[in-house]
Amino acid sequence: MEPQLTFLTSYPEAVRTQVQSLIAQGRLAEVLATRYPQMSHDIQNDKTLYQFTQELKQRFVKSSPPVSKVCFDGKIHLDNSLGLHSFVSRVQGGKLKAKQEIRISAFFKQLPFALLKMVVVHELAHLREKDHNKAFYQLCQHMEPQYHQLEFDLRLFLTLRQLEGKAV
Ligand SMILES: [Zn+2]
Repeated sequence: MEPQLTFLTSYPEAVRTQVQSLIAQGRLAEVLATRYPQMSHDIQNDKTLYQFTQELKQRFVKSSPPVSKVCFDGKIHLDNSLGLHSFVSRVQGGKLKAKQEIRISAFFKQLPFALLKMVVVHELAHLREKDHNKAFYQLCQHMEPQYHQLEFDLRLFLTLRQLEGKAV
């Protein structure tokens, strides 16, 4: 039976078929390891995550509401049934509140730096755009030109983890 690819439902059939074939050949892990030879990164605690996020915010979305807290959260479960937004992180606080909080799944500690950056960019873009609309993705790409490739790769990592039977 072919795996369901629950993290890739919004991608074209041709892409999904390609991923199915990589999985069938047992090559998904190898492909990701080749694309990301450096799996670890230095952002391993809330303090460094906060600093990194604030630097990006200063550079790209300076006028957006201040972010008071940024942290890793081990309790965010990357549930199959949820979309990327709700499972990787959460922005807390209403739109009108001055204080914003960004929580990033602790899973990102073990992923390549580029993917951590991608999810931080995603959450920073939500300071301006609540929905995943065109303006939202344009802002993501402005902050990280490889955004779409990185989001796809993140979904491949999640698929791999799911196939390995690990909780995501
Ligand atoms: Zn989102």
